[in-house]
Amino acid sequence: MVQGKVIKVSGPLVVAEGMGEADMFDVVRVGEQNLIGEIIEMRNGLASIQVYEETAGLQTGAIVTSTGAPLSVELGPGLIETMYDGIQRPLEGMMKLAGNNITRGISVPALDREKKWDFVPALKAGDAVEAGDILGSVQETAVVSHKIMVPFRVKGKLKEIKKGSFTVEDTIAVVVKEDGTEQNLTLMQKWPVRFGRPYKEKLVPEEPLITGQRVIDTLFPIAKGGVAAVPGPFGSGKTVVQHQLAKWADAQIVVYIGCGERGNEMTDVLNEFPELIDPHTGETLMKRTVMIANTSDMPVAAREASVYTGITIAEYFRDMGYSVALMADSTSRWAEALREMSGRLEEMPGEEGYPAYLGSRVASFYERAGRVVSLGKNGRIGALSAIGAVSPPGGDISEPVSQATLRIVKVFWCLDSALAYARHFPAINWLNSYSLYVDRLNQWFGEHVNSEFPVLRAKALKLLQEEAELNEIVQLVGVDGLSVRDRLKLEACKMIREDYLHQNAFHEIDTYSSMEKQYAMMKLIMNFYEEGLQALANGAEFGKLAALPVREEIGRFKYFEEKDVAAEFAKMKDAVTRAISDLTGKEAEEV
Ligand code: ADP
Ligand code: MG
Repeated sequence: MVQGKVIKVSGPLVVAEGMGEADMFDVVRVGEQNLIGEIIEMRNGLASIQVYEETAGLQTGAIVTSTGAPLSVELGPGLIETMYDGIQRPLEGMMKLAGNNITRGISVPALDREKKWDFVPALKAGDAVEAGDILGSVQETAVVSHKIMVPFRVKGKLKEIKKGSFTVEDTIAVVVKEDGTEQNLTLMQKWPVRFGRPYKEKLVPEEPLITGQRVIDTLFPIAKGGVAAVPGPFGSGKTVVQHQLAKWADAQIVVYIGCGERGNEMTDVLNEFPELIDPHTGETLMKRTVMIANTSDMPVAAREASVYTGITIAEYFRDMGYSVALMADSTSRWAEALREMSGRLEEMPGEEGYPAYLGSRVASFYERAGRVVSLGKNGRIGALSAIGAVSPPGGDISEPVSQATLRIVKVFWCLDSALAYARHFPAINWLNSYSLYVDRLNQWFGEHVNSEFPVLRAKALKLLQEEAELNEIVQLVGVDGLSVRDRLKLEACKMIREDYLHQNAFHEIDTYSSMEKQYAMMKLIMNFYEEGLQALANGAEFGKLAALPVREEIGRFKYFEEKDVAAEFAKMKDAVTRAISDLTGKEAEEV
């Protein structure tokens, strides 16, 4: 065991001498309080240690002991429904042990050591196994069948495999490896957080991650296994977007990382999720959720670790063949922790004080997302989608974290303070947001929603772009200077914005829109516009067309319950056609 002595304490950075034998990234215990830290730099026997707990009171001369192992997470049954801190300590478990003010240096295992889980084997003695093979499963929650996988680097023949009730440390199987040695396997395995879990092959994403948020699914969809960023100034709705995705995205597992933001936002998740029913499973959302909280009141350094802890857990479930969605709110706070540590290490600062390696760190985080074929004989296809909030100071996305993120993500939901101020939520600006997955996903939307859907989407986006141009003309000549066709176009855009894109996260029904409903609403708006254009050509009066009561009915469509969507759509489609043709009918009579 390598032991050294503290020679310098600078906030979360501690420098220790006599650590020459320790390895880079080793976890260490510092001082009498056993503070948890990680070696992040080694030079001439001096170890620079990032300490994940408050270092106040720590003195030079204090003993530093290396644990000889890198920062790792425990992976096994018990992850779901638990809230962890940035280094995977269960917050509830710590509170039980130490009360509300978490004492430093506390050790609580990430996975409960007492709890027993029913393990059902899928293999039998004599079977050949290799890393990634599924040994069996544990029904962890009502909706999650937790696959117990052969750990990395293990290959051989099963000597025995048990069935029954076990703790995460009990032996459930014994493998005789190729060199003749035996290895006991348990329900739990460990993985170092800074290394992505291996897989066989990366595939291109081809299915959307449906979120139930109209502006996202229709205009700027994210693929399962895709990467997205939500940048926006304070109060523009980043956290609400992240919460909406955590609630409604059609993922089997959700990993939510609260990183450096307000603690009460995590409390909201904790209070709300057990009450909300997942439309896909009929169970509460908690039954598929893992939470990592390193909120603003918790030590800064652990923010840096929290995103790795979260993404490693996400990869583990991906390896089981699940679709996993990970949200990190906010990656800017993570980057700030990186900057602080870099400053204390006296590294050469890059732009705005961020380290020169900011871009590569951001990239290597998002690169752990993807749709992959897992290890194992019958490789499973799993997907890990990652969505990071970015909080640029003052909302100016020319700053380094936004820019580094923009270079790597494929979907950009740009939140806009003007829209938020006008209470247009989600405040995703439709003119500068984008999704590079659209072309690839169009086939899925065409097959699973409606063959017309990709066309409707393209038309809607085009109209919105033309609206921006028309608005410039209106500024100059006034709305009366426009042709009636252009005025109808502006009305259609108003419907797209106010009825379709605007979506109230706090409305019981509007909070989630199925794709069927999204298609129906878009089709009604587009029918109104296109049939309206025809009517104008047939001599209808613009004023009457714009004032048709059926417009308001279209606007209320979003409040229909999902079960009524099909019937209401059929009715409403006829109603639109009738109202508009009546207009030309009457006009024709009057002439
Ligand atoms: P940020 O995380 O960007 O600072 P929040 O996500 O906390 O901002 O959003 C700020 C406020 O904006 C919320 O408290 C809420 O009142 C409002 N808001 C944001 N998105 C929506 C939405 N989709 N529906 C209704 N209100 C919203
Ligand atoms: Mg927020």
